[in-house]
Amino acid sequence: AKKEGAGKIKVFRQWMLDKLQESRTLEHDMALALVNKEFVVYYQPIVDSFSQEIYSYEALIRWIHPLKGLLSPDSFIPVAEKTGMINEMGKLVLEMACREAASWVIPAKISVNVSPVQLSSKAFAGIVLSILNETGLPAERLELEVTESSLFTESNTPMNTLNTLRALGVNISIDDFGTGYSSLSRLSRLAFDKIKIDKSFVQSISTQEDALNIIRLITGMAKSLNMKAVAEGVETQEQLESLKLLGCDFTQGYLFGKPQPYIDGKIRYG
Ligand code: C2E
Ligand code: CA
Ligand code: CA
Ligand code: CA
Repeated sequence: AKKEGAGKIKVFRQWMLDKLQESRTLEHDMALALVNKEFVVYYQPIVDSFSQEIYSYEALIRWIHPLKGLLSPDSFIPVAEKTGMINEMGKLVLEMACREAASWVIPAKISVNVSPVQLSSKAFAGIVLSILNETGLPAERLELEVTESSLFTESNTPMNTLNTLRALGVNISIDDFGTGYSSLSRLSRLAFDKIKIDKSFVQSISTQEDALNIIRLITGMAKSLNMKAVAEGVETQEQLESLKLLGCDFTQGYLFGKPQPYIDGKIRYG
């Protein structure tokens, strides 16, 4: 049994070394990727639940890795956050997304994800403003998606930044709502524009009564705080019908379109 334990430790040690090596090369590749412009933005529509008109497009980063091909953000954003490279990467996404949105014929909004790391930087508001200036995109067409954890900090910087940007007309949406620990009092003090209900709830609507009740609670809360509710991960007509009954204002998901790159002057989706 002792020998087996030692073997396990050996395996574990190797696993740790592999992980370390993996994150090191990822980090190295990522620094190069920023220089070589290997990052692209995909766009996914967010529609009005009732009229089904397109309200916004969410910008979702992708990495076209020279050897590994298309990488999804969950595989590299955590490393980018740990190393601080997310600041550069986030700026790049914001620039690309605002530039493209400024050229659209239909004045849909553009929703850009912001990492808690970016939001904790005092420089962030200034960066957003200079990108709006540079690209000519009106502040009213930009929406920032921030997570609950961004505000879970001692520092006043994230709140001040959001208040400044909001005063200029930028919309603020809380992403993945229901998975974090926002207190109601904090929420009501912040005055966001939208609450995005996490897709885990949407996708268990028909199988778990709890999920339905939680969504009802969130949409009701949004209403009483004067915010709009958005559901993500909507894949079926049945889910859409339930969400409409629950009074969810906007919906997003494969039912309306998968994230797609911007090609030939047109956004392709569906
Ligand atoms: P998120 O902001 O919650 O984005 C929603 C995710 O759900 C996206 O995954 C989207 O492709 C996926 N999705 C949309 N509709 C459906 C559906 O109907 N069914 C299913 N199963 N999935 C759906 P994606 O693009 O892989 O992004 C993952 C996460 O990476 C995002 O979650 C966001 O947290 C982060 N992320 C993406 N782009 C950026 C970025 O530019 N900056 C930062 N900081 N984070 C980003
Ligand atoms: Ca998002
Ligand atoms: Ca989300
Ligand atoms: Ca998410």
